[in-house]
Amino acid sequence: MPEAFIGLGSNLSGQSEGIHHSPRNQVNEAIKKISQCADITLLKTSSYYQTPAIGPGEQPDYINAAIKIETCLEAYELLGVLQLIEYQQGRVRTERWGARTLDLDILTYDQRIEATPQLTLPHPRAHERAFVLAPLADLSPDLVIAGHGKVINLLANCSMQGIVRLEN
Ligand code: ATP
Ligand code: MG
Ligand code: MG
Repeated sequence: MPEAFIGLGSNLSGQSEGIHHSPRNQVNEAIKKISQCADITLLKTSSYYQTPAIGPGEQPDYINAAIKIETCLEAYELLGVLQLIEYQQGRVRTERWGARTLDLDILTYDQRIEATPQLTLPHPRAHERAFVLAPLADLSPDLVIAGHGKVINLLANCSMQGIVRLEN
């Protein structure tokens, strides 16, 4: 069955079902929802990281993590499921790279290569982002990001960009 790695990020609190969720909670909730999806098996969860925002303007720090899953969903179907969860957790798309309650990106889907605006695989910026590579290295240091090489080598050559691993 196909294996995929998903990157999670949140830097805004939100409300769902009347409950306040901090960024850390948003990531917990998203992982719970993904794991409850009948077509997805959650295999592994990385540590959580606190990461300075790189987007426009002053933004709160992010909480980032990554998960490894197994899924019978095709890559575009998986993207659809992830976008629905983003929406359920209050994601509003305004400016590019603006603050958000939840971002769910497909980092890799097996060794699939895809290059449409809707879905680019591997994720086009995964190989240069410490907040993606550090959690990926927790899960699978030998994972190859097609066209760029192994996660562990990419992380070694990448500046840490101010990220901090959080205690569980
Ligand atoms: P970045 O791509 O730099 O991480 P972002 O995650 O903030 O930015 P979004 O606003 O979440 O960007 O997504 C913009 C579009 O990217 C979405 O409409 C989605 O269809 C598309 N997209 C392309 N490739 C991927 C992928 N691998 N994972 C998730 N979305 C993707
Ligand atoms: Mg993203
Ligand atoms: Mg995204």
